[in-house]
Order: sequence, then structure tokens, then C-alpha cells
Amino acid sequence: AAELAPVPAPEERELEAALRPKNLDDFVGQERVRKQLSLVLAASRIRGRSADHVLMSGPPGLGKTTLAMIIAAEMNAPLRISSGPAIQHAGDLAAILSSLSEGEVLFLDEIHRMSRPAEEMLYMAMEDFRVDIIVGKGAGATAIPLELPPFTLVGATTRAGLLPGPLRDRFGFTGHLEFYSVAEIELVLRRSAGMLELKLTSAGFAEIAGRSRGTPRIANRLLRRVRDWALVHGMETIDARTASAALDMYEVDVRGLDRLDRSVLMALVSKFNGGPVGLSTLAIAVGEEPETVETVAEPFLVREGLLGRTPRGRIAMPAAWEHLGLKMPGNAVA
Ligand code: ATP
Repeated sequence: AAELAPVPAPEERELEAALRPKNLDDFVGQERVRKQLSLVLAASRIRGRSADHVLMSGPPGLGKTTLAMIIAAEMNAPLRISSGPAIQHAGDLAAILSSLSEGEVLFLDEIHRMSRPAEEMLYMAMEDFRVDIIVGKGAGATAIPLELPPFTLVGATTRAGLLPGPLRDRFGFTGHLEFYSVAEIELVLRRSAGMLELKLTSAGFAEIAGRSRGTPRIANRLLRRVRDWALVHGMETIDARTASAALDMYEVDVRGLDRLDRSVLMALVSKFNGGPVGLSTLAIAVGEEPETVETVAEPFLVREGLLGRTPRGRIAMPAAWEHLGLKMPGNAVA
């Protein structure tokens, strides 16, 4: 998912890193995953073993990378970060695996996008902590077994359903990250504002939280945009009016829809009379990859009751017409 998100500038990246919670206690929300994870980690500490492999699923920006860092920190282990798209050959994976140190945490983002041969190598590595390195080609090829130190794999995927069963089954624990409530996002914002030494009124926090689509990464990004706006306009304290003026300027609307979300809805209602229309057709209409529409825009639009997924395709829900200020025609499907 990381590569689907816009690439942040270096300063943004530094800020994002600075705002990352460093341990489970600082991690806001996701009560269930936090409890489950804390038990898994406590148990492995007692057993003196590396923790079971962990799979984390959920939309981008909800804290999968952050949790992987926390797992490593809580296990007092080093962390290696890579991603499915970066591992195209089994050899790429072998190189990473064979250089892991004992107990190391290996974070593989977008694990569902790994190549097939790499995936098969990973099965064995996860289960038996060994891999077979194939040397030579054709009839003369031989497999040289290579022992690996015990390690903990933390896999991240936008949807657990995208993973083949055999891979999914090899994780000891799967945590499903949910969108955050507005109240939880406010907590994320208060923590970040404290670290950035920003002054906001309660209504100012609420205004940003309401537009953050239940996603901490977005909340932090909007907070930085509002901070810029307040700085340039010489505002010392950020109230609801300042926050809303700033976010209006960045085209983040009151429900948190951004330009992509609105263009998906707009295409759906104006080009396809509200649908149903297939994902790839819809993606072409907005000039995006189907995966971007499906993983970045849709989860939020579905949750907000603006878009529906039906066997025959995507449809605009009545709320979508209303949100766009349009009248729903009598012959529309939803
Ligand atoms: P992706 O899958 O796109 O990499 P992600 O789910 O891994 O996304 P992170 O990079 O972990 O998301 O988090 C994004 C930002 O949100 C981080 O800067 C982090 O500071 C903040 N954040 C995420 N979760 C929390 C949380 N529970 N409490 C406070 N801040 C959080």
C-alpha cells in the first residue's frame, strides 16, 4: 500500500517518523489488535523465543508499519523492512533471509504482491527456518539447504483475502486493523499537536478529525497542512474556522473526501448514471489503476455508505448523489 500513497517529501517523512508511537502503550486505538499482540509478545518473551509470525491486514495508513516497528522494539530485536513488489525473484528473498540475525523482525509490506517462487520459498522459511537454494539449471540443478536463524515475519496486506491460503495459514496470528473512530483520531491529533508544539481549540481538533477518514496518517497530514496555513496567516491558536478554511483550500471536504474520492463518485453518477459499473471501467474513467481505486478510495466510500459493491459492479448509493449536491434520477439502481 505504501507505494499507492503519494510519496512524501523528506521533511514530511521525517515528521511522520517523529510522530510514530514507539511502544504499544502509545499506540492509540485498535484495542483488540493491541491486546492480542501484547499477549503474543509477552508469551514469546516468557518462552525466550522469537515471536510467532504476524499478519496485519487493513487499509493503508492505519499503522501496520508502526506496529511492525513496535513489535521489534518490544522484542528488543532489530527490524528489516522490505516489500512484496521489491521481491521479484526467489533469490531476492534468499538474500534477505540469509542475512537475518537471530530473532530479527522482518517486515514485508504488501506481501500479497510477492512473486510466486519467492512465496514458495517463504513457506519453508516460515515453517522450518530453512530455505533451499537452487544452484544450476535444468537436470543438473541441485538444491542446497540453508539453515536460517529463527526470525519473526510481520506481513502486511491491504486485505487478508488477497493472500493464498497456504501463506495465510503459516502466520500464527492475524490482526485486522479497523478505521479509527473520530474520538480516537482526535487522540492521535492531540498527541501529534503536542509533539509539534501546536495550539488548537477542541473544535479545531474536531474539525480536522472529522475530515481524516478514520486514518491516522491522513490526520497527521491534514494537521501539517493546517499548521502551514496557520503559520502563513499568523494564527497562534487554530480554531475550527482556521482548520476548515485551510482544509477547504486543500480540497478535503467536510466528510474527508479528497479529489480521488470525489472523482470516483462523480464518474459513477455522471458517466454511468450511478452504475452498476465494473471496477476496471470505473478506474479508467478516473484515470487511475484499479488497485488504487479499490484499496485507496473504495474502503472509505463503502464505509461511508456512498458507494456499494454488487456482483454486477459498483453503484452510487443515494448518499453519494446527496453529497455531490445532485438529484438522484428515478432510474438509478441504488
Ligand atoms: P501502509 O500500509 O500504507 O504502510 P501503515 O498502515 O503501515 O500504512 P503507518 O505508516 O504505520 O501506516 O502509519 C502512518 C502514520 O500514522 C505514522 O506516521 C504514525 O505516526 C501514525 N499512526 C498510525 N497508527 C497510529 C496510532 N495508532 N496512534 C498514533 N499514530 C499512529
